[in-house]
Amino acid sequence: MSTEGNRISATKPATARVFFALWPPAGLADSLGRVARDAAARFGGRATRPDSIHLTLAFLGNVPEMRLPALLATAAQVHGAAFALRLDRLDYWQRQQLLWAGCAKPTVSLSTLFSGLRQALDRAGFTAGRAGESYAPHVSLVRRVPAAALPACPLRLDELDWPCSQFVLVRSHPAAAGSDYRIIAEFPLTGDPGSTSDAHG
Ligand code: ATP
Ligand code: MG
Repeated sequence: MSTEGNRISATKPATARVFFALWPPAGLADSLGRVARDAAARFGGRATRPDSIHLTLAFLGNVPEMRLPALLATAAQVHGAAFALRLDRLDYWQRQQLLWAGCAKPTVSLSTLFSGLRQALDRAGFTAGRAGESYAPHVSLVRRVPAAALPACPLRLDELDWPCSQFVLVRSHPAAAGSDYRIIAEFPLTGDPGSTSDAHG
C-alpha cells in the first residue's frame, strides 16, 4: 500500500489465471481440431484452435503470482502412472452451448489422477472447485453452438487414443478470439501402473 498525499492506493498483488490440464500431442490436437472445425461448419459456433485443445483437470482461477512456486511444488508431489485415454464420445451441453469430446466409459486412471491432484491441492490450501463436486472430463471443441442446429440423433466420434504421460500447469490469458494459453510447467506421469488399468476393446 502506498500513500500519495491524502490518497491511499492499494496495489493489488499480481495474479495468474491458471489451470491443470492434459495437453494432447500435436497429431491428436490436429485430429481433434478437424473434428471441431467440421462440427462448427455444420452446426455453427466457434471451433477451438488445435493449439488450444486440452482437457482440464483442475481450474484454480486467479492465483497470486507469489504462490505459483508453492503450486508447482504441490503438483510435483502428485505421482501417477502414464495411461491411455480413449476419446469416443461427442456430446453437447445445452446450458454452455458447448460441443465436447470425451470418453463413453469413465477412465479409472484419469479419475485417479484427478483425485490425487485435487487432494494435494486441498491439502496445500488451493481451491479448485467445490468439495464433492463431480468431475466431468471433457475436451471443449466448439463453443456457442446453437442447440437448434444439432441433429436429434447422437453425434459420433471415431475413436481417438490419447497417450497421457504428463499433466501440465497452464496460464490462461483471456482474449476476444478465445483465451490464449501458455504451459508454464510439466509434471511427468512415471509411476507404476499398479492395479488401476483401463481395459479398452
Ligand atoms: P474462454 O473463456 O475464452 O471461452 P476458456 O474457458 O477455455 O476460454 P478459461 O476461462 O481461462 O478459458 O478456462 C481455462 C480452462 O478452465 C477451460 O478448460 C475452462 O473450461 C476451464 N474452466 C474455466 N472456468 C472454470 C470453472 N469455474 N470451473 C471449472 N473449470 C473451469
Ligand atoms: Mg472461460
